[in-house]
Amino acid sequence: TIRPHASTVERVPLRSALHDLPAYKPGKAAPVSGTTQYKLSSNENPYPPLPSVRDVVAEAAAGINLYPDMACTEITEAIAKRWDVPAASVSFGAGSVEVASQIIRAVAGEGDEVIFAWRSFEAYPILTGLAGAKAVHVPLTADERHDLPAMAAAVTERTRLIFVCTPNNPTGTSVTADELHAFMTAVPQDVLVVIDEAYVHFNVDAAAAHGIDFFRTYPNVVVLHTFSKAYGLAGLRIGYAIAPDYISAALRAVAIPFGVSALAQKAALASLDAEDEIEARITSLVTEREKLHAELLSIGWDVCPSEANFVWLRTGEATQELETIFTEAGVIVRAYPGDGIRISVGTPEANRQAVQAAKAAFNRLA
Ligand code: PMP
Repeated sequence: TIRPHASTVERVPLRSALHDLPAYKPGKAAPVSGTTQYKLSSNENPYPPLPSVRDVVAEAAAGINLYPDMACTEITEAIAKRWDVPAASVSFGAGSVEVASQIIRAVAGEGDEVIFAWRSFEAYPILTGLAGAKAVHVPLTADERHDLPAMAAAVTERTRLIFVCTPNNPTGTSVTADELHAFMTAVPQDVLVVIDEAYVHFNVDAAAAHGIDFFRTYPNVVVLHTFSKAYGLAGLRIGYAIAPDYISAALRAVAIPFGVSALAQKAALASLDAEDEIEARITSLVTEREKLHAELLSIGWDVCPSEANFVWLRTGEATQELETIFTEAGVIVRAYPGDGIRISVGTPEANRQAVQAAKAAFNRLA
């Protein structure tokens, strides 16, 4: 017999690191209803999977009774070739968020410090807290950019890791190569610098830093890439790090065994083979982003230029009220209470609807 409340009595103490953990809030899904709803809340690729990728996944499904290749052999070789880096420097995880978790677990523990800009990707403080390390938030500049000098100045002897998110989620701003060189020169080489380039494919700024160049130049750089955004494989979970060999070995050691499915590995390979089609989609998303940005400016929104597949509205205290306007207009956005609203770039139709909602939201403020 099952005793009443047996599952609600907390007998087992949870780790103290879990007590103050901020929650990861996934972008809301579009509610099912009669009206057209556009989900622009998770920076996903609005295009359906490429037919060639779907075919490969369908074929790979015949083997899902078997474990995947834990070494990710084929996709490792393909990425090494793609970036002209040693295969020993490439390692994978179930999305780049899992790779970020591996990195933190590999270098930071109880009492160590992990620095990142704020606001930035919300997983950084969660994963840092889970590792028992201390999250050090360095405010963005007034124009929503990384304050790299302040981040370098925040380094102490307990700092093990710094995340540089470029383009930054959720503000879309990117760091320049000059800024990042100055930063790398200022940061001690026993501190690992992770350049999180989840949105790098959408970055058209000629002055922008390219993580791989920094990986080649400095001994303490890890570059984080994902197949979730430009490559449109968010649902399959695959991302990777390019790192010094000994770091890559450590990441493989802390990785969950068989974390990257065979379907994800095959889909990633097929996507690399479809680079032209992917490139065409990126180009149209960038065009749509520029259009969305220009329209928001003309409405009167003070939006900073974005190099990612989303734009950032500074809505401050009115955020939750304005989010309702978007939701009612059929546009699901990501709201950060007290701060801003992030709108992912969708199809032209979805973006038109987002502009209409942004107009209504702006008028509400006026
Ligand atoms: N880095 C950044 C900056 C992100 O915004 C995201 C996704 N929101 C990720 C990493 C993780 O993406 P994934 O795990 O799907 O690769």
